[in-house]
Amino acid sequence: LYVLDIDDTLYLERDYVRSGFAAVGRWLAQNCQVHGFSDRAWELFAAGVRGNVFDRALRELHLYDGSLVKRLVRIYRQHEPDIALAPDAAAFLERHPPGDLAVITDGPSNSQWAKIRALGIEGVVGRIVVTEDWGKEFAKPHPRAYLRVQGERPPEQCVFIGDNPVKDFDAPGRLGWAPSIRVRRPRSLHYKVATPHICREVPSLDAEHCRWSGP
Ligand SMILES: [Mg+2]
Repeated sequence: LYVLDIDDTLYLERDYVRSGFAAVGRWLAQNCQVHGFSDRAWELFAAGVRGNVFDRALRELHLYDGSLVKRLVRIYRQHEPDIALAPDAAAFLERHPPGDLAVITDGPSNSQWAKIRALGIEGVVGRIVVTEDWGKEFAKPHPRAYLRVQGERPPEQCVFIGDNPVKDFDAPGRLGWAPSIRVRRPRSLHYKVATPHICREVPSLDAEHCRWSGP
């Protein structure tokens, strides 16, 4: 069983961020006649700003107000994203039947399900767990989602493929899964974080990197 993360594993998360800024920018243009939000927000993000991009972009546009920020965050999280599977990820999913594939993803439920729809992976992947459907406390590295997708399989027949060394690989290690695969895509958000020694690092999900014969 291949168990995959979504963000920066199946597509580049920065594409979602850009798509979200564009949706917010369209809303501001329509409702506040303000232009330039998405370009400025993207410049800030590209310069490494995290956590307060909306505040800063709105301040620069002389539009800052706390309730507007909340509203824009909602628009960002609820937007239908313009994203697509990385070609190597699409090919990877095509090489395996749905029953051999599962997905575990953290993040706001409505955003993650919108990504799942946009990527078209429902039906392609046998089992999808959005951990926030159960509550934030079940986010990785909590083992509940891993155990759910594992089902009755022996642990060594499961392998996790993800990008984030901070939270993705802890549970599979403790559950005795096969050594995890860390996909380290250039331009992914956690690119600079080193790969833990318990993982195998690959640059993409191309067949030449991801041959795993199973136990
Ligand atoms: Mg990820």
